[in-house]
Amino acid sequence: MKKSLDTFRQIADSLLSAEQTQPVAPYIPVKELYEKLDLQLGEAVGYDAMTDALQEIVLATPKTGSNAFFNQLFGGRNDKAVLGELLSVLLNNSMYTYKAGGPMIGIEKEIIRNIASLIGWDEMAEGTLAPGGSMTNLMGMLMARDQHNKDIRYKGVQEQLMVYTSEASHYSTPKNAAFAGIGRDQVSMIRTNSKGEMDVDHLQKVIVEDIEKGLQPVLVNATSATTVLGAYDPLDSIADICEQYNIWLHVDAAYGGSVMFSDKYKHLIQGAHRANSFSINAHKMLGTPLSCSIILARNGQHLHDTFSNDASYLYQTHDDDMNPGKISMQCGRRNDALKFWTLWKSVGTKGLGKIVDQQFALADHARDYIRANDDYQLYSFDDTIGICFNYKNYDPIELCNQLYLQEQLMVGYGSFNGDTFIRLVTVNYNNEMADIDKFFQKLETFADTHMK
Ligand SMILES: *Cc1c(COP(=O)(O)O)cnc(C)c1O
Repeated sequence: MKKSLDTFRQIADSLLSAEQTQPVAPYIPVKELYEKLDLQLGEAVGYDAMTDALQEIVLATPKTGSNAFFNQLFGGRNDKAVLGELLSVLLNNSMYTYKAGGPMIGIEKEIIRNIASLIGWDEMAEGTLAPGGSMTNLMGMLMARDQHNKDIRYKGVQEQLMVYTSEASHYSTPKNAAFAGIGRDQVSMIRTNSKGEMDVDHLQKVIVEDIEKGLQPVLVNATSATTVLGAYDPLDSIADICEQYNIWLHVDAAYGGSVMFSDKYKHLIQGAHRANSFSINAHKMLGTPLSCSIILARNGQHLHDTFSNDASYLYQTHDDDMNPGKISMQCGRRNDALKFWTLWKSVGTKGLGKIVDQQFALADHARDYIRANDDYQLYSFDDTIGICFNYKNYDPIELCNQLYLQEQLMVGYGSFNGDTFIRLVTVNYNNEMADIDKFFQKLETFADTHMK
């Protein structure tokens, strides 16, 4: 093992320096991939040839930790979180029982307890981690389905259930509706207002009509914040409707839920305490390694009702309380908690808030730059870290693609209300204002010299 750790150190060092000198990895066309890099499997090549190949592959892989990666809703690297993650790999526990996970179970519960308390929930709340926000959203949907009718667990779905989510919400909701036996066609896409927030009047109208038709509303999925514009649905008004019609409210806060740590921005999820379930990704705004996705239920009994299972070969010691396999989707489950704990433990709750504030400060800086410059058009609003814009009349899709192919910047595009635009995400809080300035300079120089 010592040899592997030495090699790790060596490859990690070259990656970290390459991130400085070449922040965008060399572009390899797919048809050249197997020629350029030694990916083939077969005969044994031995340790040295393997590690040589590995080093080359690592350096050719998209560098999400660099200051030129703005492509997705994650980016950058937190050293304390990486330390925790590396140790969870080395320890290799499975998080189903106290017997197999030991103190790591306590760490996971401590994270969940603190998040529940930030949401405003009491000790009735419970939670768990799953591999990604799509899956934690699925868990929320399954709890909603089962609380509507407990027989569904045994007999399958026999009614026409309805799910409501906004047009701007994440694609996992219709996908999960198919998995849950509810059906994609049973997901009603609620209109958004001009800022991309769920139109609550439209929600109410659609629910009333559906009830009149004899359909069974089971879930409203609210989003904090939406993937493209970063809009926060109005949770309090949505909760009013859910309470009136007795519908489960799930908050998909995979992207923007981390505002709960910031005194300045937590108002964006005002009303979250009225939800029945809440999901958040620490691997987005808090910058832990992928994945760190948490689902909480205001009343933890629902997690037990939907996910509990018996297995005499597994649950041999301790109470259900310390055997979280009883409330999880998976059987074997990796330890995604330790990386979040190392970060949280070292910087404290206030430090997590500062991470969030820095991202909004970078976003404000980017918006100021755009507003002050006539060559730009801005499409997004304040209080979001996704800055949507176009530069001159350049085609945003072509510009983003060329910036990637020419190894300049990793940035993506999005659409809303018929407009397509570049979306800069200031989620990497290791960046400084100067890195944002550099982003615009690079983009302008590149566009003006390489684009038609
Ligand atoms: C990223 C995201 C998800 C999906 O999370 P993954 O961890 O990528 O599966 C779901 N909802 C929203 C709003 C997101 O931004």
